[in-house]
Amino acid sequence: MSAELLNGSRLAKRIRSQIRQKLKKLTFTPGLAVVQVGDDPASTLYIKHKQRDCEKVHFHSEVHRLPVEISQDSLIKHVETLNERSDIHGILVQMPLPEGIDKEAVIDKITPHKDADGLNPVNLGNLLINREGVTPCTPTGIIHLIELTGEKIEGKHAVCIGRSPLVGKPVGLMLLNRNATVTYCHSRTADLTTQTQEADILVAAVGRSEFITADMVKPGAVVIDVGINHVDGRAVGDVKFEEVKEIAGFITPVPGGVGPMTRAMLLENTLKLAIGG
Ligand code: NAP
Repeated sequence: MSAELLNGSRLAKRIRSQIRQKLKKLTFTPGLAVVQVGDDPASTLYIKHKQRDCEKVHFHSEVHRLPVEISQDSLIKHVETLNERSDIHGILVQMPLPEGIDKEAVIDKITPHKDADGLNPVNLGNLLINREGVTPCTPTGIIHLIELTGEKIEGKHAVCIGRSPLVGKPVGLMLLNRNATVTYCHSRTADLTTQTQEADILVAAVGRSEFITADMVKPGAVVIDVGINHVDGRAVGDVKFEEVKEIAGFITPVPGGVGPMTRAMLLENTLKLAIGG
């Protein structure tokens, strides 16, 4: 293997330890509320992990499980009651929401000052004008992983495959804010390989297992694999790891790369919101 592995699990552990240190200076306990609608098993598992993370850094956490048939209005009212609670500093509404509920309308109602996911339009708007405050968890985790390489982001050509508001679009903006030259690719991009071969930093957020093959990667590139695809009961990334690791300079594994960093950034955002930063 020629590429250096970017170990997200280890970096996340270090970040949790830094958070515990910062907590010693606080006179109160940061609190995170997670809202789950219905009982989707994958969501239940993700929430359990988030609760465990909160325990590791001694945050208060609570899960609000609401019935799948709840109306959008009632869900919004619930979010608004959390907005008012002084012991809750971060609010996260677990996606996906049941059909018939407009997720944007719900995220709109999380006050930007408690938006632990950084997905409220106010926080995304601040990102757009390079006034980064609370930023979306997965993109922020990706930036930390790229910084772990020790390579400068400024002046590099970054190619983001995917333009979702959750990952692709904000990570491209965060790279642009750090003076990378950014290309966005998506399902309508003509000749994707020509684009990816130019990437010093390649972020794959496609949702298609082993979509990125070695021939698509520039030798020495930083390759960030965001994808989590469930294949035969295991998590597989968007990058064909075994062959791409032979050509990339740095690469994230799946699992153990972006996933743990996303969760660490949720803690970091909650702390940031708690101390009003
Ligand atoms: P998404 O909303 O489905 O977006 C996928 C993006 O990929 C879209 O922009 C789509 O283009 C593009 N795309 C699809 N097929 C393509 C193709 N053949 N060529 C080029 N682009 C193509 O997914 P997402 O929410 O951004 O998530 C992406 C992946 O990351 C998923 O596997 C998800 O599970 C994973 N994820 C992981 C974490 C983590 O913590 N590790 C967090 C969030 C998401 P169009 O816009 O044209 O449709």
